[in-house]
Amino acid sequence: MDYRKKFAVERGEKPRLSKIDASYTGKHESHEKALPEIQAHVESMDKLQYLLYADGNKSLLVVLQALDAAGKDGVIRHLFSGMNPQGTSVFGFKQPSRDEAAHDFLWRAHLRTPGKGEVVVFNRSYYEDVLVVRVHKLVPESVWSKRYDLINDFEQMLSQNGTTILKFYLHISPEEQLARFKQRLDDPSRHWKISESDYSERELWPQYVEAYEDAMAATSSKQAPWYVIPSNHKWFRNLAISQIVSDTINEMGLKLPPARVDIAEIRRKYHAAAAEGKPGEGHRAKKNAKVG
Ligand code: ATP
Ligand code: MG
Repeated sequence: MDYRKKFAVERGEKPRLSKIDASYTGKHESHEKALPEIQAHVESMDKLQYLLYADGNKSLLVVLQALDAAGKDGVIRHLFSGMNPQGTSVFGFKQPSRDEAAHDFLWRAHLRTPGKGEVVVFNRSYYEDVLVVRVHKLVPESVWSKRYDLINDFEQMLSQNGTTILKFYLHISPEEQLARFKQRLDDPSRHWKISESDYSERELWPQYVEAYEDAMAATSSKQAPWYVIPSNHKWFRNLAISQIVSDTINEMGLKLPPARVDIAEIRRKYHAAAAEGKPGEGHRAKKNAKVG
């Protein structure tokens, strides 16, 4: 099953989140049965990140958005922690600082976009500026409604500069969210994660759904597609995202750069005398060879 095809949002078409089964697992029966496939995708992501880094001309930006407890942190921990930290980073977007708020809404995101050869994961993103900002009326509609076009232009610019963009909405049901909050209550090691605002934000679920549906319809594009990932089952969420990420990097046309030295010559010059095992041996062996 190609999850890119299955879960992609079409530009201009509102995904009806209430009609999308958040518990979907496709033909996969259980976590245990899906595990080898997840591991294979994660290994492939790791290898491809090495290739992206070596190629040095392109980059990948992964945007994770979701309501609380949908599993953004879990995706980062399970899928991206295998990648080499040299060349991979994660950035979380909280309420803007004074300095950030003093600039346009894309400024702080632009500062963190990946350089050539890099993978960057955004845990929340500039999309908060058409989501939480809209739901809580932090700016008037005349301001946030113009941001979709600005976001499309921004993503197009990144894309033209060699950045591939993937955007995931982790889709959970309100019942699953409440069950996860309850698990936190029952686990003292996770009490620090509980905030009352998580519960008050739940009251705004329909408003968030509307804001997400509008944002995804307005900003899903060929160069920066949105995917709605059924996430009630954490393992299925990991399976779908890891497949989409690895298939996407695989098709970025990455190449290992050619060697900058004559490999045969280096081998002959420095490794021919490796059996003797001392630094400088290869050089001496060459000198001796000339004399003899
Ligand atoms: P977790 O709760 O799992 O630790 P989180 O991403 O929810 O992860 P929090 O610190 O709880 O992290 O939340 C960050 C908050 O910052 C969210 O409520 C988010 O909506 C808010 N936020 C992010 N960007 C903006 C923005 N531009 N304007 C206003 N609020 C924002
Ligand atoms: Mg939170």
